[in-house]
Amino acid sequence: MIQKILNKKILRREEIITLLQAEDKNDIHAIFQKADEIRKKYFGDEVHLRGIIEFSNNCEQNCLYCGLRKFNRALSRYRMNETEILQTAKKICDTGIKTIVLQSGEDFNFSGEDIYRIIKSIKSEFDAAITLSLGERDFEDYKIWKEAGADRYLLKHETANAKLYETYHFGQKLYDRVGHLNYLKSLGYQIGSGNLIGLPHQTIEDIADDIILCRDLDVDMASFSPFIPSPNTPYKKQKPADVNSVLKVMAVARIVLKNVHIPVTTALATIDLNGREKGLAAGANVIMPNFTPAFYSDKYSIYPNKKSDVDPMPALRSILLAAGRNMAEGQGHSLKII
Ligand code: SAH
Ligand code: SF4
Repeated sequence: MIQKILNKKILRREEIITLLQAEDKNDIHAIFQKADEIRKKYFGDEVHLRGIIEFSNNCEQNCLYCGLRKFNRALSRYRMNETEILQTAKKICDTGIKTIVLQSGEDFNFSGEDIYRIIKSIKSEFDAAITLSLGERDFEDYKIWKEAGADRYLLKHETANAKLYETYHFGQKLYDRVGHLNYLKSLGYQIGSGNLIGLPHQTIEDIADDIILCRDLDVDMASFSPFIPSPNTPYKKQKPADVNSVLKVMAVARIVLKNVHIPVTTALATIDLNGREKGLAAGANVIMPNFTPAFYSDKYSIYPNKKSDVDPMPALRSILLAAGRNMAEGQGHSLKII
């Protein structure tokens, strides 16, 4: 039954659910093997590294699961200035990494023009692609940032279940989030979406729908990440996601989405010491090391004990070596646009 599904080119919802429900050891082995085969077919053994700069932990949103939510008064807030952001970008580029991810809460203190200027400066000084991950912003801002040279936008849909989406995001609509993603795509951004796994009330069917939504949105990158309970949030007492379930979702996503970039998330590396190795073996082809200066990164506490290193490169090199994989040389654009 599982083998028959794995041999199909396009999977139906029920088939995706069957894969996600697999419990038998041999079935799970076959799923991981297929995911690895597909990853290798499209990406070979190259792993793309994306260096993250978490430049502000201020956020106007109140996502129930996130430690940066506005109502978390216990968190001390920071903003990096433009010089610090550029210095960190240089640190990333000095390692040979060719994608810079600018990430923050939804912080309108950085105006559209501020972000525009930062993108322009990075683009003029470095040979790097830029991914923005700034939450939902004005459509006009997306436009000028693209003109400034931004390449990609990462905005996870978080859950494809419209009811749960409204629960987690205080009455906001999944429909609007999808609207932002479609608009970003229409502007020529490579788009990234994805979910959180293990949130309260979420079912296997919801997770199948997350993968299907990524397919329908024709995303360039898809991130499937464990939920980790965060102090001072309404979900602080919830259980974290189970590592093996997350790995299975990543593998099934690889089988369904084929040529899409799939990262090992920092959250996976946080809940499992060998999360990166396991993720790379479950269909992932991207790692996103964090370069935020430690005194800021400690405060970027979306969830507790977030994995972060002073210099992430030595550990990454040895992980890649042990996995028989190598660091990709280019900017690692979407296979869909080449
Ligand atoms: N504010 C932006 C970018 C920063 S948040 C945005 O929301 O898009 C980046 C990601 O952190 C979110 O997409 C969410 O999936 C993840 N996240 C938030 N809280 C989390 C938690 N408790 N455990 C794991 N991931 C979490
Ligand atoms: Fe803000 Fe992003 Fe956290 Fe939501 S997930 S509270 S938008 S930082």
